[in-house]
Amino acid sequence: MPNDPAQPNRPGLDNTSGCGQPGPRCECCGDLGDIRIITAATPLGVLCLSACPRCAAADTAPPITVHTAARFVRQHAAHLGIDLDQMADALAAERDGQR
Ligand SMILES: [Zn+2]
Ligand SMILES: [Zn+2]
Repeated sequence: MPNDPAQPNRPGLDNTSGCGQPGPRCECCGDLGDIRIITAATPLGVLCLSACPRCAAADTAPPITVHTAARFVRQHAAHLGIDLDQMADALAAERDGQR
């Protein structure tokens, strides 16, 4: 439960309030309509990207390279106001909480 209100100290890694405006097109399929910011969990961490409603609903990992994913993860950590170590800690905490 990433947004459990009982644990206010845990950063919500899928919080997009600091991510700014979505880009002009979907970063998954290139669609141009109704783009919004979504988050995606990758082995590297949680990243944010612009996606169309279809890709946002698909819940699949975006077809980007590991290098690009690493950059997006770093950017999204900055959006959240945390560094990569803190993101890794939060991910580990979420994993522990699920099992
Ligand atoms: Zn799309
Ligand atoms: Zn972000």
